[in-house]
Amino acid sequence: MIKYVYSFAGGKAEGKAVMKGLLGGKGANLAEMTNIGLPVPAGFTISTEVCTYFYAHHRRYPKPLPVEVRSALRKVERVMGARFGDVTNPLLVSVRSGARASMPGMMDTILNLGMNDTVAAGLIRKAKNDRFVFDSYRRFVQMYGDVVLGLKPEHKDETDPFEVIIEGKKKEKGVELDSDLDAEDLRALVAMFKQEIKKRTGHDFPEDPEEQLWGAIGAVFGSWNNDRAIAYRRLYDIPESWGTAVNVQAMAFGNMGADSGTGVAFTRDPATGENRFYGEYLMNAQGEDVVAGIRTPLPIPRMKKENSRIYKELERIRKVLERHYRDMMDIEFTIQEGRLYMLQCRAGKRTAFAAIKIAVDMVREGLISDKEALMRVEPDQLNQLLRPVFDPREESQAAAKGRLLAKGLNAGPGAATGKVVFNSPDAEEWKKRGEKVILTRIETSPEDVKGMDASEGILTARGGMTSHAALVARQMGKVCVAGCGSLQIDYATHSMRVNGKVIREGDWISINGTTGEVIEGKLSTRPSEVVQVLIDRTLESREAPVYQLFARLMFWADKYRRLRVRTNADQPDQASNAIAFGAEGIGLCRTEHMFFGEGKIGPMREMILADTEQARRMALAKLLPLQRADFEGIFEAMNGKPVTIRTIDPPLHEFLPHEEPLQRTLAQEMGIGYEKIRQRIESLHEFNPMLGFRGCRLGIIHPEITEMQSRAIFEAAANVRKRGIKVIPEIMIPLVGNVKELEDQERIVRKVASEVMKETGATIRYLVGTMIEVPRGALTGDEVARVAEFFSFGTNDLTQTTLGVSRDDAGRFLIPYVQREIYRKDPFEVLDRDGVGALMKIAVEKGRSARPGLKIGICGEHGGDPSSVEFCHEIGLAYVSCSPFRVPIARLAAARAAIAGQTREKKRTLRRSKPQRTSRMSSSKRAAAR
Ligand code: PEP
Ligand code: MG
Repeated sequence: MIKYVYSFAGGKAEGKAVMKGLLGGKGANLAEMTNIGLPVPAGFTISTEVCTYFYAHHRRYPKPLPVEVRSALRKVERVMGARFGDVTNPLLVSVRSGARASMPGMMDTILNLGMNDTVAAGLIRKAKNDRFVFDSYRRFVQMYGDVVLGLKPEHKDETDPFEVIIEGKKKEKGVELDSDLDAEDLRALVAMFKQEIKKRTGHDFPEDPEEQLWGAIGAVFGSWNNDRAIAYRRLYDIPESWGTAVNVQAMAFGNMGADSGTGVAFTRDPATGENRFYGEYLMNAQGEDVVAGIRTPLPIPRMKKENSRIYKELERIRKVLERHYRDMMDIEFTIQEGRLYMLQCRAGKRTAFAAIKIAVDMVREGLISDKEALMRVEPDQLNQLLRPVFDPREESQAAAKGRLLAKGLNAGPGAATGKVVFNSPDAEEWKKRGEKVILTRIETSPEDVKGMDASEGILTARGGMTSHAALVARQMGKVCVAGCGSLQIDYATHSMRVNGKVIREGDWISINGTTGEVIEGKLSTRPSEVVQVLIDRTLESREAPVYQLFARLMFWADKYRRLRVRTNADQPDQASNAIAFGAEGIGLCRTEHMFFGEGKIGPMREMILADTEQARRMALAKLLPLQRADFEGIFEAMNGKPVTIRTIDPPLHEFLPHEEPLQRTLAQEMGIGYEKIRQRIESLHEFNPMLGFRGCRLGIIHPEITEMQSRAIFEAAANVRKRGIKVIPEIMIPLVGNVKELEDQERIVRKVASEVMKETGATIRYLVGTMIEVPRGALTGDEVARVAEFFSFGTNDLTQTTLGVSRDDAGRFLIPYVQREIYRKDPFEVLDRDGVGALMKIAVEKGRSARPGLKIGICGEHGGDPSSVEFCHEIGLAYVSCSPFRVPIARLAAARAAIAGQTREKKRTLRRSKPQRTSRMSSSKRAAAR
């Protein structure tokens, strides 16, 4: 028979902490606290299965429920020495919701239930405190009226009818606070509340405690499907099928006088993680008074002086809870006439910073293992240790004063403040003058790279999580808010309109790349200690406690991860930053970014605009020494670690100016007529450039480009080798969909490699591989792997080509798509496992069938996203590659994926061994039967 009700009373409970699914978080922990001997008022939990039944059967209950509830209630009565509805010694109860995942304030609660006029009279005789009794009574009628009888206001402009009555009473008495009303006033309020209920519902207030109880149980189950709860579930991915439990528990009264009170606390500081008791309490009050903020609660340490006996008891419980749960807990307690009762405990919500500190400290204290510590820190939480942040108080004050201008995509985490500039040359110039700037563009293109580098942060009106702005910003470690659709930028007037305001060039703005918020004015930022130690080298590690936490966590992560972590970098400084963060190689060097460096864009444009192969070769000859120097810088910075270099990829027109004045300047610089330049640029125009003349297609049609790039790579490798530094270049061909494309380019690379080796006498170990970024490349992975010595998934393009969604234009519809759950997450941010992931699996399987042990990695932006890293671990990739500041995040995500995999494997083995035993038993039974 199914059991629906689980009691916790008199030091023994039928449930326990692991039964959260059935009893909800609150019920499971009340049971657990009872079992470990903490003072919990007796009660019982009606399981979540009843909630499921309730909704599946037109709000009816399973047949055995009333009997189970009655018998559990009798047990509570026995333990508490009081009776529900009794006139001389009455028991009052609370009825609260409690889902598997905490949903604070989303569902309903009723306190002081079981009260009526005769019970109130009995209580007064017993407690000798009529004010307390009528205060409890009026709170009960109000809550019951609101929650069960539906008097709670529905619209934001309505007021609670009971509050209107209270206000009237206070006015009549000429007092300000509820607590100034005396027993007689409160008694009058009860009567008025009941009249109001009769007037509005047409029914008398239920006086029968049993009827009250079932009304409350129904209302709490009903609140699982109120609008607030539904919205909250959507936001936090809580399945509707979980349902809520209902907890009925003997009331403990914090409002019985000066030796009673109530409080909430955390066993450690939830903001800093410090190991100190943190919380507040209020004497002579019920829980709602603490939350309502009418009276100011006192900090817990004050209790040491005011009530040292209770404080000691709480301190003891704090230690018991931490040792038992091995976590930082959030507790609620009530003191009734000098006796302490625990009303709730659960794992405490904490800031990212506190999560990291608590996890590391608890390993040191021997409470948890290093693996558990890793599983308790969400990889993205590391951002709080790496990035500059705003002073949180200043930021919320700014928002409160209406300075929040807009919200876009949180494309590059961190906090930046600076003066607005609307183009890259200005950004560079202002920076030279010592100004801090925020580069604000409709969208960015490779031309903006230098301006982006000169800025504190980048803000764009268009583009998604893999737009140019987003990925370049992340690679540079810049703060970025992208796709902020409400900005109306006008380049001509150097201004933008947003949220009804006009922001002009030179005005201060602040952007929060962790939340996507754009704030008017200047906010102060705090630099991260980790960056000061690892990147700026302005702080000694032994003087940096936060850095030490970070280093410890990374040490554990490296112990357990199987995936290697590389970085996407195309500048020596980016490469060195990434190494400082633990990168084990470069997984993607986008060579085209190098062409925007000093002195290179001129010959590059000459090459693109050349009419003949000969002219093109002349321009390429100018580029060769410049590219060679770039590669030397990278190889030196990587000091023997592998470097994957991708041959040129973007459509060529991206290197050319599109506005007439700039085209005229270019014509002058090159000594060619403007008209010729304009026509040539026009001839390069494409309707779908992302599917056009780009990737390996460039090198196939113009082999001299691949030749030049290969020569630059191998000559650089030979030069660096001569300086005693090991070099492992891996040449990667982009956008391959057909093995013949790869064969063509591979031939060129290998030919140049052997020429250079002959010329220099150096032996260079190298690999030639490909990106897998179009579906055909993945589907024919076996053919491609006959030529490719490695695969690297370019999941930015693979997502674009698989979904048929332009990565540069998706901003407009992807956000609504995600809101409507067409895709649960932005697929350019979190890998679409069912579509793109399925293609990846095919490519892995086919690729390794043709070339066992084929090295496969990922270098799309997903390589730094924790959930995508987990998927890469699961499908057996060798490495992930991400922007430098994401390297620690990927290390942690890889470790967590490995640990989760081990746990799953253990469970599977356990499950496999169980049925074996039963089948053996049943076969022996069968044998016996025969
Ligand atoms: C990709 O497509 O995932 C990739 C890494 O290349 P890019 O972003 O440069 O197109
Ligand atoms: Mg690509």
